[in-house]
Amino acid sequence: MDARTLRDEFLARFGRSPRVFRAPGRVNLIGEHTDYSGGFAMPCAIDKACLAAAARNGTDALRIASVEMEETIERPLARFQAQGHWSDYVAGAAAALQEAGVEVPGADLIIWSDVPLGAGVSSSAALGVAVTLALAGIAGADQTREQTARIAWRAETGFVGAPCGPLDQFASVFGAPGSALVLDCRSLRAELAPFPTAVTLLVVESGIHHAVREGGYPARRADCEAAAASLGIALLREASLADLHLLPPRLQRRARHVLSENARVLAAAEALKQADAASFGALMNAAHASLRDDFEATCPETDALAAIAASTPGVFGARQMGGGFGGCVLALAETDKAEAAAAAILARYSHPSGSPAPWFLCRPAGGAAEVVL
Ligand code: ADP
Ligand code: MG
Repeated sequence: MDARTLRDEFLARFGRSPRVFRAPGRVNLIGEHTDYSGGFAMPCAIDKACLAAAARNGTDALRIASVEMEETIERPLARFQAQGHWSDYVAGAAAALQEAGVEVPGADLIIWSDVPLGAGVSSSAALGVAVTLALAGIAGADQTREQTARIAWRAETGFVGAPCGPLDQFASVFGAPGSALVLDCRSLRAELAPFPTAVTLLVVESGIHHAVREGGYPARRADCEAAAASLGIALLREASLADLHLLPPRLQRRARHVLSENARVLAAAEALKQADAASFGALMNAAHASLRDDFEATCPETDALAAIAASTPGVFGARQMGGGFGGCVLALAETDKAEAAAAAILARYSHPSGSPAPWFLCRPAGGAAEVVL
């Protein structure tokens, strides 16, 4: 669906014209499980996005419809409480805006997204950022891009209860066409790095579902925080390799992943400057190995899929992307050979559904904004 069709559907359903806001999903080229340690990551926004059509409704509630969920739900403005429901992402954005002093009005919203849900390309941040922009927009609040990203981040961590770092929301907000972002997650500053046209990003879903709120992700985060605390530093990013021997073996491995991954992000930024796809791909392969061996956040299926992808002609490198223990594998492919590489990978990977793995190609795209209709 495009923004005009969504506007027309909104008009037909509510008898008023909405404003439409768009926020993209993201891939993370390299820099996994570094964001909450204040480290470096290299995400880019993709050309798959969540659209939020919104207009005031003169009531004291949000009426929220999701096309994907085929459901409409009402959330009263006065008392937002997490319900373990998809609409928490919307209520959370409204609550975070209220916390930031924005008077959120009663509103009707229709949400539509072509970011695959739960696949590791951050449909949740796309939703959170789109709704943050939409509610701020119709409230008449003037906020900077950084405020938008911070509010959407706060919504997902504070309200939805997913302990994610700032990576996804900042990528969705600050994405720029044809560029990756080199994101410093301590200062929250993002620099653009040009992405060569000769290479394309290939995302293949492993079919193993990850859930950021459950199990491994919070445990890994707790390990990183414990490692930092025992080294007497605020953020693990500030540790030095020479000090890691002071940690017990498991925390040593976790910390080694974070520090080596930070170094790989900076090396990858350098490789982009030189348009050196081969070096970039080798760094992605090393990032996967580190996530597998030191961080222990992969699973047999993504290990197999990443190995298949990395050994496929036309692919420079591949790694499991996202919170971990499943999700999708990101490969860096030669643009001319990307389709053929995808077909070769699908032929060799047995997806748990028995059908070929879902996949798509993408390139760095622009960040969140109101759609001018
Ligand atoms: P990811 O961000 O990798 O896609 P998450 O588990 O973090 O995976 O977020 C997926 C969740 O976000 C969905 O289960 C749903 O609750 C919510 N969500 C994302 N997009 C939509 C949408 N278009 N409509 C309703 N809920 C959505
Ligand atoms: Mg998410």
